[in-house]
Amino acid sequence: MAAARPGAATQPLEAAEAARHAMVLAEDLGRPLDRARLGAWLCAHLLTLGRYEEVLARSREVLPLLAAPALDAEYLETLRVTALAAGEIGQFDVALDAAQELVRITAARDEDGPALSAAFVLAACFERMGDSWQAIRLLSMALENHGPGAPDRPVLVANNALCAIGIGMAHKLRDTGADEEARSVIDRARAAGESARELLAGLSDPTYEVAVLGNLGEVLLHQGHLGQADAMLRSAHGLAVARGQQAYGWRIRASLGHGLLEQGRAAEALADMQALQQEMGEAAPPQTAIRVRGVMYRACKALGQFEAALGHLEVVERLERNRVTNQLRAQSRVFVTRTEAQEALRLAEQARLDAQVHRARAAEFAASAERDPLTGLGNRRHLERRFAELMPAGQPAERELALAQIDIDHFKAINDSHGHAAGDRVLVQLAHLLRENSRASDVLVRHGGEEFVVVLPGMSLGRAAEVCERLRARVAEHPWGREVPGLAVTISIGLCAAPPADAKALMLRADEALYRAKRSGRNRLVLGS
Ligand code: GH3
Ligand code: MG
Ligand code: MG
Repeated sequence: MAAARPGAATQPLEAAEAARHAMVLAEDLGRPLDRARLGAWLCAHLLTLGRYEEVLARSREVLPLLAAPALDAEYLETLRVTALAAGEIGQFDVALDAAQELVRITAARDEDGPALSAAFVLAACFERMGDSWQAIRLLSMALENHGPGAPDRPVLVANNALCAIGIGMAHKLRDTGADEEARSVIDRARAAGESARELLAGLSDPTYEVAVLGNLGEVLLHQGHLGQADAMLRSAHGLAVARGQQAYGWRIRASLGHGLLEQGRAAEALADMQALQQEMGEAAPPQTAIRVRGVMYRACKALGQFEAALGHLEVVERLERNRVTNQLRAQSRVFVTRTEAQEALRLAEQARLDAQVHRARAAEFAASAERDPLTGLGNRRHLERRFAELMPAGQPAERELALAQIDIDHFKAINDSHGHAAGDRVLVQLAHLLRENSRASDVLVRHGGEEFVVVLPGMSLGRAAEVCERLRARVAEHPWGREVPGLAVTISIGLCAAPPADAKALMLRADEALYRAKRSGRNRLVLGS
């Protein structure tokens, strides 16, 4: 199983063999979950190998076995693999069914990575059915919505797909003579391809290297950088051969043939494409078969072999007709699916936004439930939560921690002589002075009417005494009379420090010290026992 696990093995061929082998063992040992999991992995390897028919045969058998919740990831992965393989060989109804199921499932969850992957799969289906514009729209939208929150891999895959689809569009646009538009499409394809290549470096799984380099090579070909294109396509081809990624290898060879043609080496291009065609035989994916024939047609024309050229052109047209027929057959479903899929994406997007708002609101509620509305400081509930965080029950806290209780002197008299509103302003201003005099990690709490508690994590009694004495002096020196003529405010402070790091004991000791501060004349700091 270790050898069959996707991502662990570099050689898809060996991984597929290992998966087959392990499936038989799992069957014999009566381990159906492992068998189903291995079946999912086998499908993924077969996709990498370009064995699309086999993927579909396997996935038909495996998908029903993947219903267990423990196999959720494998189920989604197999839907993805099925949709992509079916799209490759023109089985659009199978592809759309799988893609739609994938979109439906991920739409119900609030995760960027799976949502982006599902959008990619659906876009790939549209692209294979000839609707590149819709595919690009879908992918760009999904990248915008989910790209920032998604892991590197789905972002790479989406960018690589944007690049590949752009290439296909450029081909079509060139065929209709829209060269200007084709150029701008290729420029955007290059940007997406470069983004994908940048992300390659950070991923240990080399599966996408061939695809990304192959696409970028093709973009370079379109842009007329023939030398660079040739080098990149050759290295991509080398990797594809080494890893047994046959379908990719074929596709890249068709691009290399196209490159030879651009370099004016028509005879070599023709010979190469003839050899490739021989090699592919019946297994040729339709898109690659069309491209190979296209290169052969243009090569023959360039060589003056017009009869042969016409023959190739006829095959291209027949293959195109086949593709269009398949497409039309799927068309009625496409319309239904497209609307449903768009609706699903819209709902997913709506759910994502709702969840965001909900989270923000919940955070706001949580914060306001712990805040004193007048001063903006924490309240008792806040103090309790912070106590629990700073001094977890049952854990001997080694850290130093100081706690101060602060009480405004003769506050009742302040209210009496200056009015309740002035009293409120004093409370607000005192909170302000507290904030100015503290660090971000300090816990500032309005504990009662004109009583405050300050927790100073990591602070010794000596250091905390300096802080409190400074605060006391600041309050006494504050120009209170400037706002309310005749007003003077002082505070008394009782201070103590851990150990023991016990919230209740600390509060009692600080309260005692505060009481002594009041008794001994107010406007002073007293350290607890
Ligand atoms: P001591 O120096 O002994 O602390 O005297 P004190 O007058 O400050 O203490 P006492 O507990 O007798 O009075 C506290 C006063 O604080 C009584 C109450 O009216 C006032 N108070 C409590 N909450 C608020 C408030 O939100 N706004 C205003 N303006 N006054 C408040
Ligand atoms: Mg009081
Ligand atoms: Mg008081």
